[in-house]
Order: sequence, then C-alpha cells, then structure tokens
Amino acid sequence: MKVPMLDLNAQYEPMKDKVLQAMTEVFDSKRFVNGPQVKELEEKLAEYCHCKHAIGVASGTDALLISLMAFGIGEGDEVITTPFTFFATAGSIFRVGAKPVFVDIDLKTYNIDPERIEEKITDRTRAIIPVHLFGQCVEMDKINEIAQKYNLYVIEDAAQAIGSEYKGRRAGSLGDVGCFSFFPSKNLGCCGDGGLVTTNNDELAEKIKILRQHGSKPKYYHKIIGGNFRLDTMQAAVLLQKFPYLEEWHKGRQKNAEYYNEHLKDVVVTPFVESYNIMIYNQYTIRTPMRDELQNKLNDANIGNAIYYPVPLHLQECFAYLGYKEGDLPESEKAAQEVVSIPIYPELTDEQKDYVIQIIGDNLS
Ligand SMILES: *Cc1c(COP(=O)(O)O)cnc(C)c1O
Repeated sequence: MKVPMLDLNAQYEPMKDKVLQAMTEVFDSKRFVNGPQVKELEEKLAEYCHCKHAIGVASGTDALLISLMAFGIGEGDEVITTPFTFFATAGSIFRVGAKPVFVDIDLKTYNIDPERIEEKITDRTRAIIPVHLFGQCVEMDKINEIAQKYNLYVIEDAAQAIGSEYKGRRAGSLGDVGCFSFFPSKNLGCCGDGGLVTTNNDELAEKIKILRQHGSKPKYYHKIIGGNFRLDTMQAAVLLQKFPYLEEWHKGRQKNAEYYNEHLKDVVVTPFVESYNIMIYNQYTIRTPMRDELQNKLNDANIGNAIYYPVPLHLQECFAYLGYKEGDLPESEKAAQEVVSIPIYPELTDEQKDYVIQIIGDNLS
C-alpha cells in the first residue's frame, strides 16, 4: 500500500468540471487582474472568518509583509514571534527591516508560550505575531492582554488555520489583523500561490488595499509606497469553487485525527487540543524521541510524512546575527528533533489509516 502525504487528485476529481468552467470564465472575461471573483471571494471569506474585511493578496508571505507595512513597522523595531513556524513568519519581519525576537513554545500545543513573552518585551517592541500552528489557535486572550498592556499590534499568522476556532471565535478575527495562505497544502488551497488579510479595522483595511496596489490612490498618485500584492482573478475563481467544500474537509480531517488519536495515543505523543479550541488539522503531528527511526520506517513503508520543522528559526544560519545559540529555546529545539507529521487529508481511506497505524505501532510498541 502507498499513502501519500497529500492527495490533491482525490480532492480535485469531484470538482474538476466546475473548476475548469470557472477558469474558462476568467479567460473569456480577460479580467485577469482585479476581476469580480476577487471581490466575491473576499466577501465570502470575510464572513467565514468573522471579520468585517478580507483582502486578497498574492501569498501568505505577502499577507504578513503587507500587515507589517500597514503598521509602519521597520528599522529599529522588534517583533515577537515563535521560532517553531514556517520561515515566512520571521522572514517577513526581517524584510521590513525589523528584528525578529523569538519566544519559546509550549511543547503541548507547539504554539508560542504566552507566559514567556513579557520578559522579551523592550521599548522597541511593536508587535507580536502568534502563529496558529498546524491549525490550532494560540491562547489569544493572554496575547491580547499583553499587547494591550504594552501597546503592541497583534498580527495572527493564520496560514495553517482558516476556520479554526478559539472560544467560539475564528482565526483571523482574534488580533488586529489575520494572515492566511492558499498554498496548495493548506486546508483551502489554490492552484498556485495566494493569500488573504482579514481585519475588523476599517482604516487598516483601507490602508492595506492601497498598499496592495503600490500605495496608489487614486491610480498613479502615491502618498505611500506599497507593492504589487494582488491576488490573481484565476486563483480567486478556483478558490470560489473550492470554498463550499471547506467545512466538509475540516470534518474529514478531524475524523481522521480522532481515529489516529484513539489508536496511537499509547505509542507516540498525539496532538493535544485545548478544550476551548476547534482545530482544523492542517497537519497531524506526532512526537517521539525515536523520530528518526520512525521516519525511516514510514519511508520504507511508502507512507508520506514530513518534518515541520527540522530547524527552529533561531538556529537558522541566516539569523546567526541575532546571536541565539543551541539551548536558548529548548522546547522548540526538542520539538524540532521529535516531531513528524503524517497524512491527514480528508480523503484518506480506512485501509490507509489502519496501515499507517499498524506501521507506527509495529515499530514503536
Ligand atoms: C504557509 C505558511 C506561510 C506562508 O504562506 P505562503 O502562501 O506559502 O507564502 C506563512 N506562515 C505559515 C505558518 C505557513 O504555514
């Protein structure tokens, strides 16, 4: 048997005709940029994310970048985030000229540990970027409390968490601004790159829309400098076709996770979900000190798997100038050594899940 990490074919097959039709419509209209599908998608996703505004952008990375730009964060500023995330979170902080400041995670959820944030705040700190890793929200009440106390912006990196809930509220509506990605491996993926920014702040939404088109308003008049951060019409058209399936896909992932939990909980550390959270399982990540052995066995058994993430960002070569050394953020370092993510996509069959469980069980019990 073979179990891929992700099977986009299984997802595409039932909607193929509709997606191709939607793409044909874009070609027929020739409105490749700023077509009506972008606005329609923004309206749908704003509502879905419990936000007043949603602004399509070219990628999740651009969502982070444009949010930092909208707050005027740059040279001399510090931004607090987690080292246990995809590179873009910290890369974006660097790209606006600010300094990433890493705070260790809570090993239970793999999310930034709010208890460790205050000690890293200086008079240069401007914002916190909590990352809702693997599809589970950060403990946002604590983040917002700290942000309020020190007058900081909160930029949610919700790239892996569209539809994820914290105390009944959706990711992207929990801070000042939310950043989403439609990279094909996310729960809602397009056919290339795409992203979204959400906010309940009218002024901020207006500024982000202006920044998205080189800071121009009206066209060819620039009071501020932005960039080309637009979401293609083609991507919006595809996403509009996929969006109606999103809740069903979340449920499929959640069912798979329950099944794995039940059968793997005595063999490895299975994902821990806080009682007030609804996780959308963009990844199903297990942890064991025998990770490397397990990964070899998974590979030999043709079971897709991936390590998110093998090197915590504070130990990346490009961030050596920040002066971190091994042992500085021990929980993140431990996670990097012990985690492995296994296939969780909604179309997994019972036979595939049982096979994954059997291979993991055989090798570790
Ligand atoms: C995917 C991802 C991003 C970047 O999104 P892109 O669309 O690939 O640019 C940022 N942060 C996290 C946590 C991600 O998982």
